Order: sequence, then C-alpha cells, then structure tokens
Amino acid sequence: MGQYAVPVLWSPDTRLHDPRHEVWVGVQTIGTETASRVDAILDALDHPGFELHEVEPAEERPALDSVHEPALVEFLGTAADRWAAGPYEDLVGQDRVVPYLFPTPAMTAGLPARPAVAVHADAGRFAYDTMTQVGPGTFAAALAAVDCAAAAATLVSDGAPLAYALARPPGHHATPAGFGGSCYLNNAAVAVEVLRAGGAERIGIVDVDAHQGNGTAAIYYARADTLYGSVHVDPGAGWFPHVVGYADETGTGTGQGGTRNLPLPEGTGDERWLEAVADLAEWVRDCDALVVSLGVDAAADDPESPLQVTADGYREAGRLLGATGLPAVAVQEGGYHLPTLGGLVAAYLEGHAASIG
Ligand SMILES: [Zn+2]
Repeated sequence: MGQYAVPVLWSPDTRLHDPRHEVWVGVQTIGTETASRVDAILDALDHPGFELHEVEPAEERPALDSVHEPALVEFLGTAADRWAAGPYEDLVGQDRVVPYLFPTPAMTAGLPARPAVAVHADAGRFAYDTMTQVGPGTFAAALAAVDCAAAAATLVSDGAPLAYALARPPGHHATPAGFGGSCYLNNAAVAVEVLRAGGAERIGIVDVDAHQGNGTAAIYYARADTLYGSVHVDPGAGWFPHVVGYADETGTGTGQGGTRNLPLPEGTGDERWLEAVADLAEWVRDCDALVVSLGVDAAADDPESPLQVTADGYREAGRLLGATGLPAVAVQEGGYHLPTLGGLVAAYLEGHAASIG
C-alpha cells in the first residue's frame, strides 16, 4: 500500500518509574502501570509500518513550564530524596512517597494553611489519590515521557502528518498543580503547547482513554484556543475520575463550549463508542492540529475499565481521526493488559496512518 511509516518517539528512561504497588482503599495492591508496558508496545511496533526514534533528555522544557505550576514540578523533582531521608523505610518498610494527609478545604476551612514540613503530609498538597506513588526513578521517567511528547509534536510542527509518543507514565490525569491516576506530568498538554509554539493557533484534543482526562480538561477548561473532547466510561457509574467528566461540563468563560465529555455506560462496545469518536472527530475538524490521548484501556480485556472495545474498534477510531486530515500527535495514555496492549496501539496507529495519503 505504500503506507506512511509512523514515527515512534520513545525513551529507555521511561522505564525508570517502578511504582511496585498502589495503595487502594488502604491496602497495597499490585501496580498495573508498569515499565513492561513500554516493551509490550515497542515489540508490537517493531515492523515496517513504524520508525523508532530514541529521544534524548531535553535541555529545557518551556512547554512543560506553561502547563504546570512550578511548585508541582519542584515537588516531584525532590519528593523521592525527601522520602528516602526520612524514617519511612526503617519504620514501616515504605520506600515510596505515599500521602497521609490531604489539606482540602474540609481541613483548612479558610485558615491560612502552610506547606507541611514532613513529606508524608506535604505530599497531599499535590497528590490527589493514594495510588500514584513517587519512587527514585519516577521524576526522570515522567520527564522522559514529556520529552517524547514534545519530540513527536516537533516532528508534526515540522511537517509530519502523524507522530506517536510512547509516553509512560501516562499524563492526562495530571492537573496544573496536582498528580494522580498514575499520571505525574501532562504529556498531551505538552504536545499541545509545542504545536502552538510551532504555529498551530487552534488545537483539538480527542481523548479515547477509558477514563476522562481530568487533568487535560482542567488545563484547558477556560481556554478558547484548545478544544478538549473525551469519550469514557461514565464517572457517574462509579469510575475514575469520579467527581468530574460529566456531560454538562462544557468549559467556562472564553472557553465555554470548548470542552465535551461523552460518558458511556459500562459494557459499551465498538458501535456506540465509535459513534462518539466520530462525533468528536467532526467537532475538532476546523482546528489547525490534533492531539490524540491514546489510551487503549477501553478494550474488552483491560483490567481497569468495563468498556468492550475491540482492536478493530481502535483501528476504526484511527481511521476516523485520521480522516480529519489534521496534522496529529498521538500520545500514549492508559492500557494495562500486557498481552494485547501493543496490538491495540498498533491497530489505532495503522488505522490513522491508512487515512494519510
Ligand atoms: Zn485510563
């Protein structure tokens, strides 16, 4: 077919984050966002439809600075050392940063709250759940994922019709000043800002991960120059991110109308899911560039969601978004079933690439 070979931007440093376990409802459970995800995806993309590019650490990251508040980046960059210097491993055998207190308005109640000195209390200033832990390699891996997203966006700014960032840990749950949902830094938003710096004035984000990308939604909720559309399992049915991701959240201020959430019931399969993807593809069609938050955890075998999308469904989603004709960056988000993960990513990218011609 002479199909377009999709550039795959990846970094070995993305393997440095090893969460080991999560703390879920107060007990340790096995983490699913593991470094082996990188290799599962690389293995599936090691054929002529793809071109692997290894990304070097960036010297500066202006896009990251425009996405996140400096205090979050500072915390993530120092938390593992602060934790290791504390008594936690000797005392209770915990070698990962786990928040113990969350200074929400329920606690501070209008009082002038200070940053906590003890890192186990300070962590709750930025972490909004207990399952997203920080270990010795976490920050380096999160920066490497950001660099992959930025490199993919740079290729697209320079004329590539599609590039894929093998970003891990994922990013779409990372908010301007917070981390959670296995995400630390928002890779998709970094791709958006690199595209903007490269001349794209209006950018559409389509998030096909099984979960609404509350971090990306928050970053762009009041912005008129960036559309955020997501299809995901209904948070109202008891799924992450639980408190946001509902259909009546449509943006605010000059960003009114720039957000769309399309929640779907548990058990939804290809047909209805693809109708939502087609709806979002049409909605972003007038933009100058597209960022796809490519989570493949909506697949039937995935342990993290109850949606029932197939590999053919992901291939068709790629075709629908590729048919917008927009220059596009696909950024890896979730997807946790190792035996099928790589094939699902490949299916999406092949579908998208087939629309380029
Ligand atoms: Zn997800």
